Amino acid sequence: MKRTRLLFKIILGIVLYALAVLTTAAAVKAEQGNDTLFQVSTIDALLDGVYDGAMPVARLIAMGNTGLGTFHALDGEMAVIDGVVYQIRSDGSVRVAEQGASTPFAAVTPFEPDLTLTLGNVSSMRELNSALEALLPNPNIFYAIRATGQFRTVKTRSVPRQTKPYPPLKVVAATQPVFDFSDVPGDIVGLWSPAFVKGVGVPGFHLHFVNAARTGGGHMLDCSFEHLTLTLDATPAFTVVLPQSEDFATTNLTLDRAADLHKVEQ
Ligand code: ZN
Repeated sequence: MKRTRLLFKIILGIVLYALAVLTTAAAVKAEQGNDTLFQVSTIDALLDGVYDGAMPVARLIAMGNTGLGTFHALDGEMAVIDGVVYQIRSDGSVRVAEQGASTPFAAVTPFEPDLTLTLGNVSSMRELNSALEALLPNPNIFYAIRATGQFRTVKTRSVPRQTKPYPPLKVVAATQPVFDFSDVPGDIVGLWSPAFVKGVGVPGFHLHFVNAARTGGGHMLDCSFEHLTLTLDATPAFTVVLPQSEDFATTNLTLDRAADLHKVEQ
């Protein structure tokens, strides 16, 4: 009897060891992404009203087919999906960005799926964020995020085109148009950024949405769904190109704008 129990223990040990090895192998694979996140300007410059296009969109998408941002003069939200640059304007309309469009702030990466996560029965953005964060193998690197699915509800916002002198983003965001979708198929594109990019990027999750009909979307404020499969691209490298404009040169980037960012992200 004792012998059987010992044998059982040994077999269980071997099985557990094999499982541990497999799990580790999966985790390592998930972290093997070697892509670079390519970003134009800094979030704090955008918060302070540096809205002039600093890079043509055509040059931006040479650096990656997946990402998000905004456009010259803050003319709507940008969602880059499969190399197509969508412009979601403040009237709620969506168009493929014009040839010659430029961006004051955007981040893209060549999307290579490293990790697939399935989430069920999510009733808010807060739930989505905490469920996703708990599953990240390494929160101290970047992840590009893609998902295509059916949503119960999605709430988005876009930002209206501004004229000079540009007001700070928190002033613009105070009157941002908000859009509500229900029972809608669509795409999420976004990023996870580690906490230490504060001031440069948006720490945590930053997600944009475009519906499947490509007639609506924006910066995601809330969502709910029954079932969604998300694909993540582990992205350990980070390149930032800074504008050389007068506006950027004279912006005070010594301030802590975390509270402003929190306000405009909501
Ligand atoms: Zn956004």
